[in-house]
Amino acid sequence: MAAYYNKNNPDQTETIVTLFDKTTSYSKDDDALGFIALAVHELRTPLTILRGYIEVLEDELSGKLSPELASFMQKMHASSQQLSSFVSNILNVARIEENQLFLQLHEENWEKVLKNILSDMALRAQVHGKKLEANIQPNLPAVGIDSVSMYEVVGNLIDNAIKYGGKSDKIIIRSYLRDDGTVETTVQDFGVGISDSILGNLFEKFYRNHRSRTHVGGTGLGLYLSKAIVNAHGGHIWVQSKEGQGSVFGFTLQQYSQLADKSKTADNSDIQRTAHGWIKNHSFYRR
Ligand code: ADP
Repeated sequence: MAAYYNKNNPDQTETIVTLFDKTTSYSKDDDALGFIALAVHELRTPLTILRGYIEVLEDELSGKLSPELASFMQKMHASSQQLSSFVSNILNVARIEENQLFLQLHEENWEKVLKNILSDMALRAQVHGKKLEANIQPNLPAVGIDSVSMYEVVGNLIDNAIKYGGKSDKIIIRSYLRDDGTVETTVQDFGVGISDSILGNLFEKFYRNHRSRTHVGGTGLGLYLSKAIVNAHGGHIWVQSKEGQGSVFGFTLQQYSQLADKSKTADNSDIQRTAHGWIKNHSFYRR
């Protein structure tokens, strides 16, 4: 701890800098994460097979099932999607820790990408009694994104809006062009909200609000991962919330033309990044 006070300073200001060394507490988490990631990795293959067969059964049996059985099928489908998101969250956080999460940014039509994600998430929302309402500004400029990773960001924000959405069934997703030229996307729920005192902690690894710990399942990794991915895209993620009234989570993306100016090189037309920043001349892979 460093404290500074100058009696002769006319402003009478005082500065105190306090540093906490959390290495030991973080290294415990890191060890745990390594072990969990190892175990979770083994879930990938059986889960992919289960999801595949659920989709086949759903297609084959559509229209032939009673409403009750059809709703069981939907719940199975939504739960298998949720389990997949859990698996990719854990694996991606482990990759971030080892600086092994590589992103490849492409020129994409954000409205199209976002609508695809929303149509995938609609079932999960419906199974939990929620409705997704989209409000996307037409003719948004093309953005530079790694679609698989952005799917995870939007998926995590919507998952949270479903989990913490309380009694309200409404979740609103907006996307629009900001004055600074970035494309902003927000996910708003009208649920439990978050108190001011903990807003600053939400994006930390493993952070979970003590109130949700007991009755809502989760890992405390979703927002940490989302922030790492958005930052690697050159964007910014934020939250606004009022306890008891709901929350808005938002993030910005850069237009492809802006990104391309900055990072395209003559010999390498792809824009590649890791979650910790830029990589140059590195072959892309995403396991
Ligand atoms: P998880 O949901 O798995 O706990 P996240 O990293 O996604 O982990 O979120 C961290 C914490 O932030 C959650 O435990 C919850 O307390 C809070 N939180 C996130 N999204 C919302 C939301 N939409 N409304 C209220 N609280 C939220």
